[in-house]
Amino acid sequence: MTQQLPTPPADAAGAEAWVSEHLGHLCSDVPTASNLRGGQVAADSALAAFDVAGYAKARNEVFPTGRQGASRLSPYIRHGLLPLPHVWDAVADGPSYDVKKFRDELLWQEYSRHLYARAGTASGMSLRYEPPVTDPIGEIRPSDIEDMACLQLVADQLTSDGWLVNQTRMWWSSHHSVRLGKPWPAGEDQFFRHLLDGSRAANRLGWQWTVGAGKAESYGFSRFQVEKRAPGLCAECPSRASCPIENWPETTPNPAVDVPIALGRIEGDATGGPSETDTRGQPDIVWLTAESLGNDDPALRAHPSLPVAFVFDEPLLGRLQLSGKRLIFFTETLGELAEHRDLRVHLGAPARTLADHRLAVTYAPVPGFQRLRSTLHIEALHPWPWLRRPTGTSVKSFSAWRR
Ligand SMILES: Cc1cc2nc3c(=O)[nH]c(=O)nc-3n(C[C@H](O)[C@H](O)[C@H](O)COP(=O)(O)OP(=O)(O)OC[C@H]3O[C@@H](n4cnc5c(N)ncnc54)[C@H](O)[C@@H]3O)c2cc1C
Repeated sequence: MTQQLPTPPADAAGAEAWVSEHLGHLCSDVPTASNLRGGQVAADSALAAFDVAGYAKARNEVFPTGRQGASRLSPYIRHGLLPLPHVWDAVADGPSYDVKKFRDELLWQEYSRHLYARAGTASGMSLRYEPPVTDPIGEIRPSDIEDMACLQLVADQLTSDGWLVNQTRMWWSSHHSVRLGKPWPAGEDQFFRHLLDGSRAANRLGWQWTVGAGKAESYGFSRFQVEKRAPGLCAECPSRASCPIENWPETTPNPAVDVPIALGRIEGDATGGPSETDTRGQPDIVWLTAESLGNDDPALRAHPSLPVAFVFDEPLLGRLQLSGKRLIFFTETLGELAEHRDLRVHLGAPARTLADHRLAVTYAPVPGFQRLRSTLHIEALHPWPWLRRPTGTSVKSFSAWRR
């Protein structure tokens, strides 16, 4: 079954109601908007408001919120509202130390995309390391953290805002895997369900970094980081006199990971997609994917008079059961686009929904796109806006990739 949905509204309250009515059966919670807005206007405003000066010193700060120096641009970067080259250029006039640190983080994002495009989802091909699992219950339960102000703060922000500073992502993932001994893929799924920037590329890389895939050590989390990055939080904690994370967790050196050969240097560029538009015929519609929802999407820009299609992938979303705030973020973005383009929003399986169309689309470096593209009639395939185009260099580690 595939159906065309009514045009989505762009405002938060309207988007909330629209998601509840049309996509509520695909959500894991009652759809409620995050305080981070979807849409190009919100993305551009966030970038314009971001001052890179002081970023290097403050990016890891957690609490009180006013001390945080991270940009909060990740949901817009993740969904192509702010392409990485655009963000890279936008900070050029800042202090050189801060610009360098910030651009390093953009490179981590780019690296995660290269790694994911190369490793894909094929088992045995990712840089996967499974630390010993001592608690097979998948996610952190409320009872695991009930008297811990630090992790309660993280849980609240994850479920209400759908955004976390990098530092608290490390706290949570370390507590989950290193101290509680739970399987990291379950924690990754929990993050993916809630984070507005949730991507298999960066999320998987983050969790694997914490557990220590490809490194000698996993990342330990203890009271030390809370006192350093969130001064004053321990004073509010019911466990301040009996802190369960007073000491470092016990860790043993990680075994060497057998890095798959496919992640090493390869001949040519298998994952970059076309470097120029690959045109075969005349498209009749632009297909937008969740990877690239911005006004600067190359296919959208190249075909200003064509209608535009977006498909909420019902079978996939049914399996993922995302938090409603993620779908509201998409809906606000689409609602804004519908104000200046002829947008058709569908619910169904993309291959079936788009089967009768001749498509213009932007290449997306993710396995799901590679699977779908072979089943569709793509007449114009537009290049992905890489920050650094893949060249076949090793993606075994960030430092190997950067060289
Ligand atoms: C366990 C774990 C899970 C994570 N899951 C995700 C995820 O699903 N999606 C995601 O985009 N990032 C993820 N990250 C990376 C990072 O935490 C976020 O990108 C960052 O916190 C977003 O906030 P910001 O935009 O304020 O970042 P800033 O510090 O302002 O950085 C600017 C941009 O650089 C990129 N960036 C920064 N740090 C990283 C990093 N370590 N890896 C990759 N890109 C980075 C992001 O695009 C970010 O928007 C994860 C990290 C960890 C440890």
